[in-house]
Amino acid sequence: MRKFLQFTDGKTLEVANIYGVASNYRLHAQEMGSKIPEDPVIFLKPTSAFVPNGGIILLPDISQKVHYEVELVVVIGEDGFNIPEKEAINFIAGYAVGIDVTLRDLQTKAKQEGKPWDIAKGFYTSAPISPVLPAEMFKGTIPNFDLVLKVNNEIRQKANTEQMERKVETLVSFISNVFSLNRGDCIFTGTPEGVGEIKDGDILYAELSGYVNLLCKVSKRK
Ligand code: MG
Repeated sequence: MRKFLQFTDGKTLEVANIYGVASNYRLHAQEMGSKIPEDPVIFLKPTSAFVPNGGIILLPDISQKVHYEVELVVVIGEDGFNIPEKEAINFIAGYAVGIDVTLRDLQTKAKQEGKPWDIAKGFYTSAPISPVLPAEMFKGTIPNFDLVLKVNNEIRQKANTEQMERKVETLVSFISNVFSLNRGDCIFTGTPEGVGEIKDGDILYAELSGYVNLLCKVSKRK
């Protein structure tokens, strides 16, 4: 099924590839027992992972430990290949808040066994994304945002994207060089510290503070 991003000014854009960045905040890397990797660690989620605002995260029965990770999501508006960092801004259509929902038990096992993360990161409903703020709102700069995540109205994650180890322009350049970038691609730029478990019935609320929110319900698969 085709999936569409909704912009706050009414535009829509079909979701293309969904990229994720691992270990991009120092304190989160520490809580995972990892270091900031020398080269960026990138993973993918299929388009079917996308969940719009107000949607439901379905817990798969293959995992007993599912985690939220709040992240800035960068939405690409133009196709590009090998984009220099200083031109990255010209390829960005907008910014959103997303939750990189992760099957932590399966990811930990995959890491230990040297196996891919596709199931742990890319399962159905693993990529909720809020409405998208048009990049034009920020007049020629890539802004920093305050990120907040609440579970059942309790704050669990709070950070600013200026704490990212690799900046948006670096990630756009790197990913475009390896994969190329397409209009409609979404980049989850990494999570700050404070990740934790979600359970059946939880309400997740994420925000780019002052700009845009994302609300999702967590449910067991029936
Ligand atoms: Mg993440």
